Amino acid sequence: MPDRGKLNCSLIVAGTCAAALVSFALPVFGTECRPHHFRAPYFIKSMGVCDFDPETLSYAGTPVQQAKCLMRGMDASRNLAPPLDALPPGLARRIGKITGLPSREALARYLSTQDLETDFASHLWEPLSRAHDNDPNAPVARYFVIHDTSGPNYHHRAFPDDIDAHPLFEKLAYYACSDGWGRAHVFINRTGEMLLAHDYSLPWRETKFEQAAQFGKALLGLFLHTEMVQPRRSAPGHGLRNDARTPDPAFTTAQYDRLALLYTIASVRRGEWLVPAFHAAIDAEIPNGHDDPLNFDIERFADSLDQLIDKLE
Ligand SMILES: [Zn+2]
Repeated sequence: MPDRGKLNCSLIVAGTCAAALVSFALPVFGTECRPHHFRAPYFIKSMGVCDFDPETLSYAGTPVQQAKCLMRGMDASRNLAPPLDALPPGLARRIGKITGLPSREALARYLSTQDLETDFASHLWEPLSRAHDNDPNAPVARYFVIHDTSGPNYHHRAFPDDIDAHPLFEKLAYYACSDGWGRAHVFINRTGEMLLAHDYSLPWRETKFEQAAQFGKALLGLFLHTEMVQPRRSAPGHGLRNDARTPDPAFTTAQYDRLALLYTIASVRRGEWLVPAFHAAIDAEIPNGHDDPLNFDIERFADSLDQLIDKLE
Protein backbone atom coordinates (compact mmCIF):
# COMPACT_ATOMS: atom_id res chain seq x y z
CA MET A 1 0.00 0.00 0.00
CA PRO A 2 1.46 3.38 -0.92
CA ASP A 3 1.72 6.44 1.28
CA ARG A 4 -1.61 8.18 1.51
CA GLY A 5 -0.84 11.34 3.42
CA LYS A 6 -0.25 12.31 6.98
CA LEU A 7 -2.13 11.42 10.10
CA ASN A 8 -4.25 14.36 11.26
CA CYS A 9 -3.18 15.40 14.74
CA SER A 10 -6.48 17.10 15.48
CA LEU A 11 -8.10 13.69 15.55
CA ILE A 12 -5.83 12.35 18.22
CA VAL A 13 -6.49 12.79 21.89
CA ALA A 14 -4.27 15.26 23.69
CA GLY A 15 -1.08 13.80 25.01
CA THR A 16 -0.52 11.36 22.20
CA CYS A 17 -0.21 13.89 19.43
CA ALA A 18 3.51 14.31 19.93
CA ALA A 19 3.91 10.70 18.95
CA ALA A 20 1.96 11.46 15.82
CA LEU A 21 4.48 14.04 14.70
CA VAL A 22 6.33 11.18 13.14
CA SER A 23 5.17 11.40 9.56
CA PHE A 24 2.67 8.65 9.12
CA ALA A 25 1.69 6.92 5.96
CA LEU A 26 -1.91 6.91 7.05
CA PRO A 27 -4.94 8.53 5.49
CA VAL A 28 -6.85 11.14 7.42
CA PHE A 29 -10.01 9.91 9.09
CA GLY A 30 -13.09 10.49 6.98
CA THR A 31 -10.95 11.37 4.05
CA GLU A 32 -11.94 11.06 0.44
CA CYS A 33 -9.68 8.46 -1.11
CA ARG A 34 -10.51 8.54 -4.80
CA PRO A 35 -7.41 9.81 -6.62
CA HIS A 36 -7.88 13.42 -7.70
CA HIS A 37 -5.26 13.43 -10.40
CA PHE A 38 -5.60 11.87 -13.79
CA ARG A 39 -3.40 8.82 -13.99
CA ALA A 40 -2.07 8.10 -17.43
CA PRO A 41 -2.78 4.54 -18.56
CA TYR A 42 0.31 2.35 -18.45
CA PHE A 43 1.21 -0.86 -20.21
CA ILE A 44 3.28 -3.63 -18.68
CA LYS A 45 5.96 -5.46 -20.61
CA SER A 46 5.68 -8.91 -19.08
CA MET A 47 3.02 -11.13 -17.60
CA GLY A 48 4.90 -11.16 -14.31
CA VAL A 49 7.31 -13.53 -12.60
CA CYS A 50 4.55 -16.15 -12.25
CA ASP A 51 3.55 -16.01 -15.92
CA PHE A 52 -0.06 -14.83 -16.02
CA ASP A 53 -2.13 -16.02 -18.98
CA PRO A 54 -4.57 -13.30 -20.09
CA GLU A 55 -6.65 -15.87 -22.02
CA THR A 56 -7.36 -18.19 -19.09
CA LEU A 57 -7.04 -15.41 -16.46
CA SER A 58 -4.75 -17.67 -14.48
CA TYR A 59 -1.08 -17.96 -13.55
CA ALA A 60 0.98 -20.89 -14.84
CA GLY A 61 0.75 -24.29 -13.18
CA THR A 62 -1.52 -26.00 -10.72
CA PRO A 63 -3.03 -23.92 -7.91
CA VAL A 64 -0.32 -25.19 -5.50
CA GLN A 65 2.44 -24.36 -8.00
CA GLN A 66 0.91 -20.91 -8.44
CA ALA A 67 0.89 -20.34 -4.66
CA LYS A 68 4.57 -21.41 -4.42
CA CYS A 69 5.36 -18.73 -6.99
CA LEU A 70 3.00 -16.07 -5.67
CA MET A 71 3.64 -16.46 -1.92
CA ARG A 72 7.20 -15.20 -2.01
CA GLY A 73 8.40 -12.07 -0.43
CA MET A 74 11.55 -9.98 -0.42
CA ASP A 75 14.94 -11.30 0.63
CA ALA A 76 17.44 -9.37 2.77
CA SER A 77 18.65 -7.43 -0.28
CA ARG A 78 15.06 -6.31 -0.98
CA ASN A 79 14.84 -8.43 -4.12
CA LEU A 80 12.07 -10.93 -4.69
CA ALA A 81 12.97 -14.31 -3.21
CA PRO A 82 12.84 -17.43 -5.43
CA PRO A 83 9.65 -19.54 -5.63
CA LEU A 84 9.02 -21.67 -2.54
CA ASP A 85 10.20 -25.29 -2.63
CA ALA A 86 7.26 -26.39 -0.54
CA LEU A 87 4.22 -25.06 1.23
CA PRO A 88 3.24 -26.00 4.79
CA PRO A 89 0.94 -29.06 4.70
CA GLY A 90 -2.00 -26.97 5.91
CA LEU A 91 -1.84 -24.97 2.70
CA ALA A 92 -0.55 -27.63 0.28
CA ARG A 93 -3.45 -29.99 0.96
CA ARG A 94 -6.08 -27.28 0.59
CA ILE A 95 -5.17 -24.77 -2.14
CA GLY A 96 -7.22 -25.37 -5.28
CA LYS A 97 -9.20 -28.22 -3.67
CA ILE A 98 -12.88 -28.40 -2.82
CA THR A 99 -12.31 -30.78 0.07
CA GLY A 100 -12.06 -29.83 3.73
CA LEU A 101 -14.08 -26.65 3.45
CA PRO A 102 -16.23 -25.98 6.51
CA SER A 103 -19.98 -25.64 6.02
CA ARG A 104 -21.45 -22.17 5.74
CA GLU A 105 -23.53 -22.95 8.81
CA ALA A 106 -20.53 -23.87 10.97
CA LEU A 107 -18.66 -20.81 9.79
CA ALA A 108 -21.66 -18.56 10.41
CA ARG A 109 -21.97 -19.90 13.96
CA TYR A 110 -18.31 -19.23 14.60
CA LEU A 111 -18.55 -15.71 13.16
CA SER A 112 -21.43 -14.90 15.48
CA THR A 113 -19.30 -15.92 18.49
CA GLN A 114 -16.78 -13.35 17.26
CA ASP A 115 -19.37 -10.58 16.78
CA LEU A 116 -18.79 -10.69 13.05
CA GLU A 117 -22.33 -11.37 11.86
CA THR A 118 -23.09 -8.08 10.16
CA ASP A 119 -19.96 -7.63 8.12
CA PHE A 120 -18.99 -11.23 7.44
CA ALA A 121 -21.57 -13.92 8.30
CA SER A 122 -24.35 -12.08 6.47
CA HIS A 123 -22.45 -12.29 3.17
CA LEU A 124 -21.52 -15.97 3.42
CA TRP A 125 -24.23 -17.06 1.01
CA GLU A 126 -23.32 -14.44 -1.59
CA PRO A 127 -20.93 -15.25 -4.43
CA LEU A 128 -17.48 -13.69 -4.75
CA SER A 129 -16.75 -11.14 -7.44
CA ARG A 130 -16.06 -12.32 -10.98
CA ALA A 131 -13.44 -11.13 -13.44
CA HIS A 132 -14.36 -8.64 -16.19
CA ASP A 133 -16.10 -6.49 -13.58
CA ASN A 134 -18.56 -9.18 -12.50
CA ASP A 135 -19.35 -10.57 -15.93
CA PRO A 136 -21.55 -13.62 -15.15
CA ASN A 137 -19.58 -15.65 -17.74
CA ALA A 138 -16.15 -14.78 -16.32
CA PRO A 139 -14.26 -16.84 -13.72
CA VAL A 140 -14.96 -16.31 -10.03
CA ALA A 141 -12.20 -14.62 -8.00
CA ARG A 142 -9.20 -16.97 -7.70
CA TYR A 143 -6.49 -15.04 -5.91
CA PHE A 144 -6.47 -14.03 -2.25
CA VAL A 145 -3.95 -11.20 -2.21
CA ILE A 146 -2.19 -10.37 1.06
CA HIS A 147 -0.86 -6.86 1.68
CA ASP A 148 0.55 -4.81 4.51
CA THR A 149 -0.09 -1.11 5.01
CA SER A 150 3.66 -0.31 5.12
CA GLY A 151 2.98 2.36 7.69
CA PRO A 152 3.07 4.34 9.85
CA ASN A 153 6.77 4.84 9.08
CA TYR A 154 8.97 5.67 12.07
CA HIS A 155 11.98 6.32 9.86
CA HIS A 156 15.03 6.12 12.15
CA ARG A 157 13.10 6.16 15.44
CA ALA A 158 12.58 3.00 17.44
CA PHE A 159 9.16 1.37 17.43
CA PRO A 160 7.19 2.15 20.60
CA ASP A 161 6.89 -0.77 23.03
CA ASP A 162 3.11 -0.81 22.61
CA ILE A 163 3.18 -0.91 18.82
CA ASP A 164 0.73 -3.83 18.70
CA ALA A 165 -1.88 -2.35 20.98
CA HIS A 166 -1.67 1.44 21.12
CA PRO A 167 -5.00 2.97 20.06
CA LEU A 168 -3.20 5.48 17.87
CA PHE A 169 -2.07 2.75 15.52
CA GLU A 170 -5.11 0.58 15.97
CA LYS A 171 -7.76 2.98 14.71
CA LEU A 172 -9.07 1.28 11.62
CA ALA A 173 -11.12 4.38 10.92
CA TYR A 174 -7.94 5.85 9.47
CA TYR A 175 -8.31 3.42 6.60
CA ALA A 176 -11.99 4.18 6.02
CA CYS A 177 -12.89 6.41 3.10
CA SER A 178 -15.87 8.74 3.14
CA ASP A 179 -16.31 8.35 -0.63
CA GLY A 180 -16.41 4.53 -0.64
CA TRP A 181 -13.01 4.33 -2.34
CA GLY A 182 -11.51 1.88 0.18
CA ARG A 183 -8.09 0.66 -0.89
CA ALA A 184 -8.68 -3.00 -0.18
CA HIS A 185 -11.58 -5.28 0.65
CA VAL A 186 -10.66 -5.76 4.31
CA PHE A 187 -8.12 -4.25 6.75
CA ILE A 188 -6.84 -6.11 9.83
CA ASN A 189 -5.16 -4.20 12.64
CA ARG A 190 -2.62 -5.64 15.07
CA THR A 191 -5.19 -6.61 17.69
CA GLY A 192 -7.23 -8.43 15.05
CA GLU A 193 -10.01 -5.92 14.57
CA MET A 194 -11.23 -5.72 11.00
CA LEU A 195 -12.57 -3.00 8.76
CA LEU A 196 -14.72 -4.13 5.87
CA ALA A 197 -14.18 -1.56 3.12
CA HIS A 198 -15.72 -3.68 0.34
CA ASP A 199 -17.39 -7.04 0.54
CA TYR A 200 -15.61 -9.74 -1.49
CA SER A 201 -18.51 -9.62 -3.98
CA LEU A 202 -17.38 -6.18 -5.14
CA PRO A 203 -14.79 -6.25 -7.92
CA TRP A 204 -11.80 -4.19 -6.75
CA ARG A 205 -8.24 -3.70 -7.99
CA GLU A 206 -5.30 -2.86 -5.78
CA THR A 207 -2.15 -3.90 -7.64
CA LYS A 208 -0.49 -2.19 -10.57
CA PHE A 209 -0.61 -5.42 -12.52
CA GLU A 210 -4.43 -5.62 -12.42
CA GLN A 211 -4.72 -2.03 -13.55
CA ALA A 212 -2.41 -2.27 -16.57
CA ALA A 213 -4.06 -0.76 -19.64
CA GLN A 214 -3.79 -3.82 -21.86
CA PHE A 215 -6.16 -5.77 -19.61
CA GLY A 216 -9.00 -3.22 -19.69
CA LYS A 217 -11.35 -4.44 -16.98
CA ALA A 218 -10.56 -8.13 -17.52
CA LEU A 219 -8.80 -8.52 -14.17
CA LEU A 220 -11.31 -6.45 -12.21
CA GLY A 221 -12.90 -8.98 -9.85
CA LEU A 222 -10.32 -11.79 -10.19
CA PHE A 223 -8.31 -10.81 -7.10
CA LEU A 224 -9.47 -10.21 -3.50
CA HIS A 225 -7.41 -7.82 -1.38
CA THR A 226 -6.70 -7.91 2.34
CA GLU A 227 -4.44 -5.40 4.10
CA MET A 228 -2.73 -6.00 7.44
CA VAL A 229 -1.55 -3.04 9.49
CA GLN A 230 2.23 -3.08 9.73
CA PRO A 231 4.31 -0.14 10.98
CA ARG A 232 7.70 0.28 9.33
CA ARG A 233 10.98 2.00 10.01
CA SER A 234 14.11 2.69 8.04
CA ALA A 235 16.97 0.24 7.69
CA PRO A 236 20.54 1.41 7.21
CA GLY A 237 21.88 1.35 3.69
CA HIS A 238 18.60 1.73 1.81
CA GLY A 239 18.15 5.48 1.39
CA LEU A 240 17.13 8.24 3.72
CA ARG A 241 13.43 7.63 4.32
CA ASN A 242 13.12 3.98 3.40
CA ASP A 243 10.63 1.65 5.06
CA ALA A 244 12.63 -1.57 4.89
CA ARG A 245 12.25 -2.63 8.54
CA THR A 246 9.23 -4.26 10.13
CA PRO A 247 8.44 -5.01 13.77
CA ASP A 248 9.57 -8.46 14.93
CA PRO A 249 7.38 -10.43 14.57
CA ALA A 250 6.18 -8.58 11.50
CA PHE A 251 2.53 -9.51 12.11
CA THR A 252 0.74 -10.52 15.27
CA THR A 253 -0.90 -13.87 15.98
CA ALA A 254 -4.25 -12.05 16.00
CA GLN A 255 -3.55 -10.87 12.45
CA TYR A 256 -2.64 -14.36 11.18
CA ASP A 257 -5.78 -15.73 12.85
CA ARG A 258 -8.00 -13.14 11.20
CA LEU A 259 -6.28 -13.59 7.85
CA ALA A 260 -6.92 -17.34 8.07
CA LEU A 261 -10.56 -16.58 8.88
CA LEU A 262 -10.93 -14.27 5.86
CA TYR A 263 -9.21 -16.82 3.63
CA THR A 264 -11.65 -19.46 4.83
CA ILE A 265 -14.64 -17.14 4.33
CA ALA A 266 -13.56 -16.36 0.76
CA SER A 267 -12.85 -20.02 0.00
CA VAL A 268 -16.21 -21.18 1.38
CA ARG A 269 -17.94 -18.58 -0.76
CA ARG A 270 -16.04 -19.79 -3.82
CA GLY A 271 -16.55 -23.47 -3.00
CA GLU A 272 -12.79 -24.05 -3.38
CA TRP A 273 -9.68 -22.97 -1.48
CA LEU A 274 -8.32 -19.89 -3.21
CA VAL A 275 -4.72 -19.31 -4.22
CA PRO A 276 -3.01 -17.02 -1.68
CA ALA A 277 -0.69 -14.45 -3.27
CA PHE A 278 1.59 -11.65 -2.14
CA HIS A 279 1.36 -8.18 -3.64
CA ALA A 280 5.17 -8.16 -3.96
CA ALA A 281 5.15 -11.15 -6.30
CA ILE A 282 2.25 -9.89 -8.43
CA ASP A 283 3.87 -6.51 -9.13
CA ALA A 284 7.48 -7.72 -9.08
CA GLU A 285 8.42 -6.77 -12.65
CA ILE A 286 6.68 -3.39 -12.58
CA PRO A 287 8.77 -0.29 -11.75
CA ASN A 288 8.12 0.98 -8.20
CA GLY A 289 6.48 -2.30 -7.29
CA HIS A 290 5.66 -3.08 -3.69
CA ASP A 291 7.42 -5.20 -1.07
CA ASP A 292 4.38 -6.25 0.92
CA PRO A 293 3.54 -8.25 2.94
CA LEU A 294 7.08 -7.87 4.31
CA ASN A 295 8.45 -10.70 6.51
CA PHE A 296 5.19 -12.62 6.34
CA ASP A 297 5.44 -16.01 8.09
CA ILE A 298 3.71 -18.60 5.92
CA GLU A 299 4.04 -21.30 8.62
CA ARG A 300 2.18 -19.16 11.11
CA PHE A 301 -0.57 -18.46 8.58
CA ALA A 302 -0.90 -22.20 7.93
CA ASP A 303 -0.97 -22.89 11.70
CA SER A 304 -3.75 -20.35 12.16
CA LEU A 305 -5.67 -21.97 9.33
CA ASP A 306 -5.28 -25.48 10.79
CA GLN A 307 -6.39 -24.28 14.22
CA LEU A 308 -9.42 -22.49 12.80
CA ILE A 309 -10.55 -25.53 10.81
CA ASP A 310 -10.12 -27.74 13.91
CA LYS A 311 -12.35 -25.34 15.84
CA LEU A 312 -14.98 -25.33 13.09
CA GLU A 313 -15.07 -29.11 13.00
ZN1 LIG B 1 0.03 -4.02 -1.25
